[in-house]
Amino acid sequence: MEFLRPTTWADALAAKAEHPDAVPLQGGTDVMVELNFDRRRPPALLDLTRVAELADWAREDGRVRVGAGVTYTRLIDELAGPLPGLAMAARTVGSPQIRNRGTVGGNLGAASPAGDCHPALLAAGAEVELASVRGTRTVPAREFYTGVKRNALAPDELIAAVLVPAATGPQQFSKVGTRNAMVIAVTAFGLALHPERRAVGTGIGSAAPTPRRATAAEDFIAAELTAAGLWDTGGELPEAAVRRFGELVAEAAAPIDDVRGTARYRLHALAVLARRTLAWAWADYRATRREG
Ligand SMILES: Cc1cc2nc3c(=O)[nH]c(=O)nc-3n(C[C@H](O)[C@H](O)[C@H](O)COP(=O)(O)OP(=O)(O)OC[C@H]3O[C@@H](n4cnc5c(N)ncnc54)[C@H](O)[C@@H]3O)c2cc1C
Repeated sequence: MEFLRPTTWADALAAKAEHPDAVPLQGGTDVMVELNFDRRRPPALLDLTRVAELADWAREDGRVRVGAGVTYTRLIDELAGPLPGLAMAARTVGSPQIRNRGTVGGNLGAASPAGDCHPALLAAGAEVELASVRGTRTVPAREFYTGVKRNALAPDELIAAVLVPAATGPQQFSKVGTRNAMVIAVTAFGLALHPERRAVGTGIGSAAPTPRRATAAEDFIAAELTAAGLWDTGGELPEAAVRRFGELVAEAAAPIDDVRGTARYRLHALAVLARRTLAWAWADYRATRREG
């Protein structure tokens, strides 16, 4: 097996163009498991850990550009302010060792329906920046996941960064697992309030072939909040609207039975997570309005 070790982004893109079969390696917390279990035997590995350009984040135009090599630990320590939903999701990933190595780029590269970044990225309205020697393009997260563990990357492309709008309202992430830590989600849900455009973002994890939004639920709750003037008054959420929101989120899912849980349980849990995260986020929103 060839081991390619570029030290610059330009060299990494050139190497990927020359070796489209090479498997990129960032933290290795997915790739090394696959190699160890002999699930994958690629002709080449493309080690990206020396490419400094991937390891940084920066604020630009109301967004945070998070390099593909930024680890969960750094998301938690450095970006919980502007990206609270993503930081919450990061806190639930693996163990400290996995959070020190694992990256948002690797989570996107793996594109597992159970990956914890995805619900938060969908809810926030993130875009994924892809690059190759041919140039750079951005793909909205909602279009990035194309199938089970499949994504929109062309064979010669690499993930450069994820562009996440800085939060303008409260965000939440919640995950159900078979235990409290070191667990792959049975199902997960991300939610973001966007008061400036009177919208609510959602992301469903581990309950469909790909991570996906619950768009009917988003439209429903945004319309309810607007019709009742609640964005302005910060008044209490009507119980019936919260319940309906949970139902619509579950309706957007298409789960399967597997070793971690049944489809029926996942639908039930998802509705509960949707109701809870909405109630928590709304309580935060009301508190900020009282303070303001
Ligand atoms: C014990 C354990 C616990 C875990 N717990 C969780 C958990 O709770 N939640 C969760 O979501 N995940 C979990 N994972 C999975 C894994 O840690 C995450 O998916 C992590 O984000 C992968 O990041 P990485 O940098 O290690 O990726 P890598 O293993 O290096 O790569 C993962 C995939 O992305 C591709 N890739 C990496 N970087 C790029 C790039 N720049 N461009 C294109 N493709 C790229 C790789 O080729 C590979 O296909 C766990 C893994 C282990 C071993």
